Amino acid sequence: MICLTFDVEERFHSHLTIADGQRQWSAGDSIKRLVDLLEEQGRTATFFIVGELAEHYPTLIRRIGDAGFEIASHSYSHLKMDAANRRACEADITRSKQVLEDISGRSIIGYRAPSWTAQWTDAWLWDHLAVLGFRYDSSLFPFRTQLYGSFSNSVYPSRLRPDLLEIPPTVATFGPLRIPFGGGFYLRLHPMWTTRWLLRRDLARGQSPIVYVHPWELDIQQSRPIESGWLNRFIGNYNADQTWPRLTELVRDYPSQTMANLCQEIEVNEHAASRNVPRQVRTKSRSD
Ligand SMILES: [Zn+2]
Repeated sequence: MICLTFDVEERFHSHLTIADGQRQWSAGDSIKRLVDLLEEQGRTATFFIVGELAEHYPTLIRRIGDAGFEIASHSYSHLKMDAANRRACEADITRSKQVLEDISGRSIIGYRAPSWTAQWTDAWLWDHLAVLGFRYDSSLFPFRTQLYGSFSNSVYPSRLRPDLLEIPPTVATFGPLRIPFGGGFYLRLHPMWTTRWLLRRDLARGQSPIVYVHPWELDIQQSRPIESGWLNRFIGNYNADQTWPRLTELVRDYPSQTMANLCQEIEVNEHAASRNVPRQVRTKSRSD
């Protein structure tokens, strides 16, 4: 199964855009389209939601939770983790969890950093998430771009803290080569046959590739580009009209699960593996 996720934010939250103070709230219709699509196709997904957006659309957020989809945190104000000070980031995460839990009435166990801006070395961040009761993070992009990620991030799930799992966003690996696919700009960039081939490849290996889309990507062609510089404008707008048909195709053709399901699956496997270890050790010591 693929893991279907949405980074629920407004276009002005994106760090590709000019910080000109214009905050146009318009994601509501796109979020409704996503919920309708999932319900029509009988699929499930995780919605990583920006806290202040949840305060803007509380009824919609409750609908997402009531429909049985997972609600997770995408921070409170889409603060870049590597630009703000540590205390401000901690307060932002705490507030996001509180707001999302108050509005949805559900417990929030997943976190994704704005624009993947977390680093593996951010010990304070992992401590803070663990203290707040988060069970998984999905922020460490295993590919380097001008904005985020690192080639030293693992492509496999790993433990950040005893009770906190890292489930990294998906990239395809070919020996030392890594290719991001199946989300945001990469879903618009690669032709669909490439995306489908790479998804099939991961699925055949027993993995659960993570697909992600931003609601603002569904209607970018209807408004003027607000990204700063030619590169950001290209990343933010390339193949803008393709997000909806491509997402619809993936939702129709691939059964999906939530990140919470995947987290639980990994924990069950870890538990089974840890139970096997002492048995093997005991067997060895007996034969010695
Ligand atoms: Zn984001």
